Amino acid sequence: MNRADSRRLAVALEALGYELAARAEEADVVVLNTCVVRQQAEEKVHGRLGSLRPLKERRPGVTVGVMGCLVGFRGPGEVAERYPWVDVWMPPSDPGPLLDHLVRESAADEGRALAAEAKARQARFYEGWGLPSRERGRRVAAYVPAVLGCSHACTYCIIPYRRGPEQSRPPEEILTEIRALAEQGVREVTLLGQIIDRYGYDLLDRYTFRTQTPLVDLLHRVHAVEGLVRIRFLTSHPNWMRDDLLEAVAALPKVCEHIEVPVQAGDDEVLARMRRGYTADDYRRLVARIRETIPGVSIATDVIVGFPGETEAQFQRTYDLLAELRLDKVHIARYSPRPQTLAARRFPDDVPPEEKERRRKALEELQARIAAEINARLLGRTVEVLVEGKKKGRWWGRTRTDKLVFFEDERDRLGQLVSVRITWAGPWSLIGEPTDLPSEPRRAGRG
Ligand code: SF4
Repeated sequence: MNRADSRRLAVALEALGYELAARAEEADVVVLNTCVVRQQAEEKVHGRLGSLRPLKERRPGVTVGVMGCLVGFRGPGEVAERYPWVDVWMPPSDPGPLLDHLVRESAADEGRALAAEAKARQARFYEGWGLPSRERGRRVAAYVPAVLGCSHACTYCIIPYRRGPEQSRPPEEILTEIRALAEQGVREVTLLGQIIDRYGYDLLDRYTFRTQTPLVDLLHRVHAVEGLVRIRFLTSHPNWMRDDLLEAVAALPKVCEHIEVPVQAGDDEVLARMRRGYTADDYRRLVARIRETIPGVSIATDVIVGFPGETEAQFQRTYDLLAELRLDKVHIARYSPRPQTLAARRFPDDVPPEEKERRRKALEELQARIAAEINARLLGRTVEVLVEGKKKGRWWGRTRTDKLVFFEDERDRLGQLVSVRITWAGPWSLIGEPTDLPSEPRRAGRG
């Protein structure tokens, strides 16, 4: 979500006449877009904020802005007092305060002020459209926010307090943004939402969707955008993955057969204290339903280890669930208490850090084995890779199932769909060689 917000901010600033600078030291405007989802991320933000102070002292004319979850949808509060060298605070997804500030700063007389305001209005109008000029024709995949905020209030999660309640963007606005991206060379979009499957339910009094699940209607409309070859969406919540959504993933050729649906824990009592709203068995049934409906699907999940009160036996149930389900990817986080959340207020953070790390490592090792076995099945097979860039002389891109693939080719393959025959498979990536053979059809299995 922050990457999407940064892109949109860059586009809005370009509309005001700014250009991207290579380094903060050379810039007139420096913006930190912040994440506080875990304590570690927040500490990093404070470190970076501290390091901007000398820059501001050396060049007082520099505008320093902070955006995102450190600020929150209600404003920065006491944090602003700690950092007097910050000029502007922006809530997540809202570059408005920075644009206003820059307009005020640049307007020395009334006539210029009016012209500058008109420019700022225009910049807001452009907000969210397309790519900053430096990335046009170079960026292949882009994130597009569809649902902002979240109203679910899992007990460990700070996001509802920082990004505010759930709010879907109107479908036309999303489509305008996606069309602009496609015209500028983007070939894959990922629709974003904290619970993406809930897209549109808050718009039902203003918009008519042609399908029972509004996200399905949106997927159909995005599917019709020329130039796009792939569509993804994330993140799903187990309680909101309706059958018609899964059927749409199976039926729409551009929608990739990859689902990101966090389980968070494999123990029912922990899940209840997290207020996730489902049991481990519900999740098992969901995974079976996804696999039945979408042939060749890959599934990614998120897990938190060391949630307050998580016993060894409860952790073992998470371990066993992952060993049983054999998902393609698992993002593992060690629990850290976040301010304002119910868990931080009610439950003591009683699993010691070394124990959290031990549990994280155990899951990581398990998943490395599972992912290596899943990926080994791709050896000798031909997969379709959308090429996103070049690193150390090798092209890289992802399969429809979100697996990272590297290959060598003298030709320029950026933005192309390339058939790659897999010659090496590890748990986190694959290596192959380009071939003129067509890649196996999407129904053929886990490619
Ligand atoms: S669903 Fe839960 S974990 Fe996800 S953003 Fe909302 S509150 Fe946070």
